Amino acid sequence: MTKPKKKPPRQSYNCLKCPGYCCTYPRICVTQEDIALLAEHHGLTHKQAAKKFTKDGHEPGEIILRRQEDEHFGTACMFLDQESRGCTIYEGRPTICREFPGVRRCGYYDFLFFERRTLEDADHISVTNNDWM
Ligand code: SF4
Ligand code: SF4
Repeated sequence: MTKPKKKPPRQSYNCLKCPGYCCTYPRICVTQEDIALLAEHHGLTHKQAAKKFTKDGHEPGEIILRRQEDEHFGTACMFLDQESRGCTIYEGRPTICREFPGVRRCGYYDFLFFERRTLEDADHISVTNNDWM
């Protein structure tokens, strides 16, 4: 007798209601495969995509996505839409973005909803520090 397949656990977060905390990490690391996907997505060569969208990180060999100014968090990934707070290259996004948070819950989402509930403000955007202001 075959065992019934276990259902994957339901996600308990909703990226559509989040301002994109994970897109505001200072170091969003990419691989050469990710750059190849970025190149394909934008109709560029690998070299052009690497130059336009990435730069060297602090660690040896580390490559990270370029950033832009962000109204709420100081800076964020260059591909984060400032209005919708969604990813503008969803189909071409890097592996690390596809895999985050990797578990059923997202700590940022829990934090956001704790704050929104406490303040009774469904649109509140919580920041963890304001050093950049
Ligand atoms: S921080 Fe969590 S809820 Fe927000 S966009 Fe990223 S994965 Fe989604
Ligand atoms: S590529 Fe998209 S999902 Fe990844 S950090 Fe940038 S905006 Fe977020």
